[in-house]
Amino acid sequence: MTIDAGLNWAGNHRYTAGRLAAPTTIGELRAEVTAADHARAIGSRHSFNALCDTEGTLISTASLPGDILIDEATMRVHVPAGVRYGELSRRLEAEGFALPAMASLPHISVGGAIATGTHGSGDAAQSLAATVSGLELMTADGDLRRLVRGDDDFAGAVVSLGALGIVTRVTLDLEPTYQVEQRVYEGVPVDVALENLDAITSGATSVSLFTTWKNPDVIDQVWHKRRPDRDADAPATVFGAVPASGPRHPVPGNPAFACTTQLGEPGAWLDRLPHFRLDHTPSSGTEIQSEYLVPRRHAVDALRAIRSLAGRIAPLLQVAEVRTVAADDLWLSPASGEDVVALHFTWHPRTTEVLALLPTLEAALEPFEARPHWGKVSTIGADRYAELYPRLPDFRDLVDRFDPHGVFHNAQLRATVLP
Ligand SMILES: Cc1cc2nc3c(=O)[nH]c(=O)nc-3n(C[C@H](O)[C@H](O)[C@H](O)COP(=O)(O)OP(=O)(O)OC[C@H]3O[C@@H](n4cnc5c(N)ncnc54)[C@H](O)[C@@H]3O)c2cc1C
Repeated sequence: MTIDAGLNWAGNHRYTAGRLAAPTTIGELRAEVTAADHARAIGSRHSFNALCDTEGTLISTASLPGDILIDEATMRVHVPAGVRYGELSRRLEAEGFALPAMASLPHISVGGAIATGTHGSGDAAQSLAATVSGLELMTADGDLRRLVRGDDDFAGAVVSLGALGIVTRVTLDLEPTYQVEQRVYEGVPVDVALENLDAITSGATSVSLFTTWKNPDVIDQVWHKRRPDRDADAPATVFGAVPASGPRHPVPGNPAFACTTQLGEPGAWLDRLPHFRLDHTPSSGTEIQSEYLVPRRHAVDALRAIRSLAGRIAPLLQVAEVRTVAADDLWLSPASGEDVVALHFTWHPRTTEVLALLPTLEAALEPFEARPHWGKVSTIGADRYAELYPRLPDFRDLVDRFDPHGVFHNAQLRATVLP
């Protein structure tokens, strides 16, 4: 089956691969990988750039075999890499288990999310990749290799950018199921938010700030996802922001029914931690996204820099989101080594204009050591990645050992981390 007309979810990248394979057995996967001069894994296609792409064979992980196996004794779950968080979380909840964090959408595959360092929000919430305690991947020679937390190469192999091989199975840490209440508060003055940023983000297990920057003096919405078993009581107001009078969508003009339940009604973690419901289009559905992860010590200055560009950002922006992510030790995780604030932009799909603006935005964020999200749109070049990721030489060595002939290299990797 050719996919020369194939597009990613957002429609802003047309795959150049000549062939799409969807193996249903490990034998079929091995046949595809070993026959290909070049190959890449493809999950649910929610990345906004060419990271998935290859001049050879795109290998969908959606039909790879394997059950979801919960190990209650170790509090871990073994999953096929192509499973989507939406389906995995339903199964976990049915058996009384939970994940510590979720991204804004449950539509993405586990393999795709961990390969790019995908994250949710929360001062104590690490990236989804940080919950990985083991993985199995097929290298270009058709071998299956298993790595577990503590192995020398493990911390380099989780946020892999797909450069080591096709991840077939992943083991994730679990916790017992828990409840979450979600509330939206509206209208915090930006100066107040910047003065009290740590107090705001620590106000609940997961906190997001949304704003369109149309009014550079106001943060439009603060989303609180509160765990009644851990968090303080829900506040009446959040630094001047008042509870929304009804359910809200973060992107102005979009229907709130596409979002998870709000107004403080308690519900299971999987139905509150993501902003968007699995059975609806996430976000606006007509968009491209960028995101930069900045050490928390720079958060206020980085937000001031963004605010100073509000007049240029706002015309292209649907909404911006500010989240926090706890540090991990994964070499290419954007939260590697230090707690970060994630500065996200949902742009109108005006690619040319967005690409023209990004160098200005990225120059403004450069002093703050901003690491771009691996799965989103950025114009940052290879030289800068070498400065942003101290373990990049080790990652290149890992890639050389796992994939000596560069089967999983592609143009995006050559432009960023494997020049
Ligand atoms: C509406 C929307 C909301 C989003 N919200 C968030 C958010 O809240 N937080 C956040 O951090 N990101 C967010 N993202 C970005 C998204 O989480 C990432 O782009 C993620 O990589 C998508 O997963 P996927 O399964 O679609 O991966 P794909 O886009 O299919 O692939 C991404 C990368 O992973 C590699 N890969 C996929 N599967 C495997 C595998 N089995 N083995 C090896 N490599 C593999 C691919 O080769 C590619 O390099 C959002 C995206 C969208 C469209």
